[in-house]
Amino acid sequence: MSLAGKTAVITGSNSGIGLGIAREMAKAGVNVVLNSFTDNAGDHALAADIATEFGVEARYISADMSKSADCRRLIVEAGRCDILVNNAGIQHVAPIEDFPADKWDAIIAINLSSAFHTTAAALPNMRINGWGRIVNIASAHGLTASPYKSAYVAAKHGIVGMTKVVALETAQEPITANAICPGYVLTPLVEAQIPETMKEYGMDRETVIQDVMLARQPSKEFATVEQLGGTVNFLCSDAAAQITGTTISVDGGWTAL
Ligand code: NAD
Repeated sequence: MSLAGKTAVITGSNSGIGLGIAREMAKAGVNVVLNSFTDNAGDHALAADIATEFGVEARYISADMSKSADCRRLIVEAGRCDILVNNAGIQHVAPIEDFPADKWDAIIAINLSSAFHTTAAALPNMRINGWGRIVNIASAHGLTASPYKSAYVAAKHGIVGMTKVVALETAQEPITANAICPGYVLTPLVEAQIPETMKEYGMDRETVIQDVMLARQPSKEFATVEQLGGTVNFLCSDAAAQITGTTISVDGGWTAL
């Protein structure tokens, strides 16, 4: 079965991995709903450009994934959600005793709780329509840990656990739930960590990338947003109909170490 004509809602998709996934899905003929918490002309232009480039329907819906009501409204406003990609995420890096409580709350809300709310809102119609795919963008940090990322690691381990529960609750239906665990991808989220790491280690940009970030990634290469989009498309394909409740690492070997 082709994915053409299905509708995907991708949270946090006006940048980075989410936008890359939206573009790869649109390339496969999927109608896409983009999202972030902002609501400006540039956001809507991203959707219009995708519609023009790939000949699909594309819309942008502003909704703040830190707010439960917004998460649920996004699914209602989308109208149709055959494929739900929970991708919105933020990061903050600090030792646990200095970790600001408001950053902890925001990371748990956006990186974990939003997926609970969107999934709860999207499942009833997937059941009525007799088909659904839920893909949660977790992280290598959903399977392993790094110091100073307590909230992020907790949220990402949490979303891997929730993915398994959703898979079990839908196991006898044509609905699957899986998590993708990327290693480092050079997006704005990762770019933002580079200057601080340069300062902390007294290194130049290239040394930070090679000796700090990609030190964890045996391939010594960043994963790309196109590779992640391709992995989402695979999880939505017929070939993946019996793949549910699991994780796929796209991490250049990080979690094999
Ligand atoms: P990014 O900063 O480029 O994108 C994050 C997206 O989330 C943006 O579109 C942003 O607008 C959106 N967002 C942030 N707060 C939001 C909110 N309150 N409501 C709605 N949208 C919100 O970062 P990215 O690297 O593309 O990250 C996307 C996902 O991939 C995140 O869940 C991240 O944890 C995960 N991830 C990234 C990497 C990496 O190396 N870049 C690795 C593993 C996992």
